[in-house]
Amino acid sequence: MSDAAGHSSLDFSHKLAGSPLQRLQSPFLQQADIQLYVKRDDLIHPQFGGNKWRKLKYNLIYAKENQFDTLLTFGGAWSNHIYATAAAGKHFGFHTIGLIRGEEHLPLNATLSFAKDCGMHLHYINRAEYRQKNETAFLNKIRQQFGNVYILPEGGSNSLAIKGCAEIVEEISDELENPFDIICCASGTGATLAGLISALNPRQTAIGFSALKGGEFLNDEVETFLNHEKIKSTPLPKNWHIETDFHFGGYAKLNDELIQFMSEFQSQYDFALDAIYTGKMFYGLFERIKAKAFKPGTTIIAIHSGGLQGNKGFNL
Ligand SMILES: *Cc1c(COP(=O)(O)O)cnc(C)c1O
Repeated sequence: MSDAAGHSSLDFSHKLAGSPLQRLQSPFLQQADIQLYVKRDDLIHPQFGGNKWRKLKYNLIYAKENQFDTLLTFGGAWSNHIYATAAAGKHFGFHTIGLIRGEEHLPLNATLSFAKDCGMHLHYINRAEYRQKNETAFLNKIRQQFGNVYILPEGGSNSLAIKGCAEIVEEISDELENPFDIICCASGTGATLAGLISALNPRQTAIGFSALKGGEFLNDEVETFLNHEKIKSTPLPKNWHIETDFHFGGYAKLNDELIQFMSEFQSQYDFALDAIYTGKMFYGLFERIKAKAFKPGTTIIAIHSGGLQGNKGFNL
């Protein structure tokens, strides 16, 4: 269905139903006796796939139902979330405003020029302002300036985002004959991981591979997200942990070893990884498999959360 402006209505039930689950096969995995599947969320949509779409989905439904016509959000100059919000906003008929951290640099980089071409209004805020992005006083000021906008936090990480990420687990359960043992994702804010955890059964474990240095902070972040979701009387689930050793020096830092791993991965398995998140997750997961961290016969799911647009920032 389309509205008068030719925009698709918010009917997600057909084309954007989910993503394929792909089994990876190689001598390495066979020798380790690990069954590894990749949830190819990068294939959901060429422009707004990945976990950023999972996080947007219920937010967009909420925004439509509550008559918001404009989405406003925050991000850095290479943000996957800015990119996805601009594309999804255009697709589903929302105006979009991006508050971008730092100063304008012209010509715009690939991410921001794409966002602008999607119709996103780019507005730059300095780093001190950017740090206030979750504070009520700042958000009130934003609403005064931009009107009745639906505000998405950085990375799209809120309660409705967690609901969207929980659907990943539900989809996989329909796709596999037997339940999986482990599910892995790359983590930045921890919202995706929290969504996965919220949908696991107690015999399953979720692992978040931190894309940032000092990934221990994610333990608190994930608990906070889970607390928001919590049904009062049940204890918080403990069947998850964070891997903190595979950040390669910090957010968006990379080295030759990572780049070489990504390129070997692509030749072996025939699809690309992004350097900021999924490259580091697969590197870390393979290291853990090599170190025999998982029992023979374990079934592992790794989520390809997208992010490939960001590789342009490294000329990859
Ligand atoms: C944003 C992003 C993540 C991190 O997700 P969080 O929910 O913030 O932990 C992981 N992978 C990709 C490709 C992303 O763009």
